[in-house]
Amino acid sequence: MPDGFRGQLLSGWGRAGATRADVQTPPDADAIVDLLSEADGRGIVARGLGRSYGDAAQCAGGTVVDTVRLAGAGAVDASGEVEVAAGTSLDTLVRHSVPDGWFLPVTPGTRQVTVGGAIASDVHGKNHHVDGGFCRHVTAMTIATPTGLRRVSHAQDGELFWATAGGMGLTGVVTSARLRMLEVDTDRMLVDTDRFVDLDGVMSAMEGGDDRYRYSVAWVDCSGPVRAKASRARGRPGVGRAVLTRGDHARAEDLPSRLRSAPSPPGRPRLGVPRCVPRGILNRASIAAFNEAWYRRAPAHREAEVQPMWRFFHPLDGVADWNRLYGRAGFLQYQFAVPPSSGDVVTAVVRELSARRIPSFLAVLKRFGPSSPGPLSFPIPGWTLALDVPLGAEGLAACLDRLDEMVAESNGRVYLAKDSRLRPDVLAVMYPRLAELSSVRRRVDPGGVVRSDLSRRLGLD
Ligand SMILES: Cc1cc2nc3c(=O)[nH]c(=O)nc-3n(C[C@H](O)[C@H](O)[C@H](O)COP(=O)(O)OP(=O)(O)OC[C@H]3O[C@@H](n4cnc5c(N)ncnc54)[C@H](O)[C@@H]3O)c2cc1C
Repeated sequence: MPDGFRGQLLSGWGRAGATRADVQTPPDADAIVDLLSEADGRGIVARGLGRSYGDAAQCAGGTVVDTVRLAGAGAVDASGEVEVAAGTSLDTLVRHSVPDGWFLPVTPGTRQVTVGGAIASDVHGKNHHVDGGFCRHVTAMTIATPTGLRRVSHAQDGELFWATAGGMGLTGVVTSARLRMLEVDTDRMLVDTDRFVDLDGVMSAMEGGDDRYRYSVAWVDCSGPVRAKASRARGRPGVGRAVLTRGDHARAEDLPSRLRSAPSPPGRPRLGVPRCVPRGILNRASIAAFNEAWYRRAPAHREAEVQPMWRFFHPLDGVADWNRLYGRAGFLQYQFAVPPSSGDVVTAVVRELSARRIPSFLAVLKRFGPSSPGPLSFPIPGWTLALDVPLGAEGLAACLDRLDEMVAESNGRVYLAKDSRLRPDVLAVMYPRLAELSSVRRRVDPGGVVRSDLSRRLGLD
């Protein structure tokens, strides 16, 4: 780091592990190529809206390319495709496209991510079992690399395309992308809800019935052993009571006439969290109380409830800056995926967290369909569980190391967009195709300047 380097302090959504970098906001793709070709060993990496939880969009002592000025989208064409600048948020994109009846083919749990960030993490939604990851719907993209601008697609330099899809920004900076959108008739969903006393019940319902729905997600309470009779009857007390919601987009004819208006864009956040949140507001007791209230509120069984689309997909976007609730210490999200035959690992993880009394808000359980060809893309067919944990919980580091081993032993992996702590030796077991990523990076970035705090921590340089 040069003498006197100050830079800007950056962290991920978990608000921990901040580092300083020189943040640049170039106006266009050519200016980004200039920055990349001038970069040196201190490194350079792209940053979108900073919604990855850990250190993926940080570069200590180097340069961070904030893509905020790469904004804007064309009109959705007759084939349903749209060219979008990579710094455009999914929120902006849907405000532009939904009134014309075009929704995102895949959306994460927040709209506050950029198109570039969605590509770099190959993000998944509640429909991975049907529609795959985000990059499956990207038909072409332009990438600024230290050796120039490249337009790639599945057919044209598919190697670079797929190394970038889920590649955590390590092949260069995506400057724009062509995205295939999903046509919707209304902005309502038809939703079925079911409550389960434990994980065994919800997982068998998902295996048996998810294929009937485009979207499926279960919210799981990891707080403690389940005391319900139905669970005890299976042998030992179960864990993880759950609420499963599954649904599809409503067509106009599915709705009463008063709800049949043209699709409308989302509202703005109604609530916010102040900068200073009293220490300890989220603790074992408050988290358990929240989980209890949430479980009791859900119906045991309800069919075809009409829900606004925005509440169904992005309930957390109603509260701005909710990550401040965790206070100054911050938090982390642990998300892993395991093959279909390793559902017992999901139960074992929840059991382990509950036995060690590690407080966790509702965990999110989904099923994944086939992987994409990207060597670093996270989804593999099977199960994925994501849970938020406050940093500083006693025994957390050792517990997560143990969970990593269980996940790796079952041929699973953790999600790098959420990670801040994985060890490099475990990464290589979880992602066995790292050499393919390295070979593409050597081709487009022979000087090895595109790097991040995450890539250094994980030995991906
Ligand atoms: C509330 C919440 C819910 C979420 N739900 C989900 C979910 O359901 N499914 C899911 O998959 N993820 C989910 N995420 C994670 C989030 O979708 C990803 O971390 C996403 O990458 C964040 O995008 P961003 O624009 O904020 O990128 P950043 O966090 O700024 O960067 C993330 C990575 O993308 C790279 N990057 C950013 N822009 C570019 C670019 N233009 N070119 C190349 N690389 C780039 C960065 O270098 C970094 O490696 C969630 C996150 C939050 C906070």
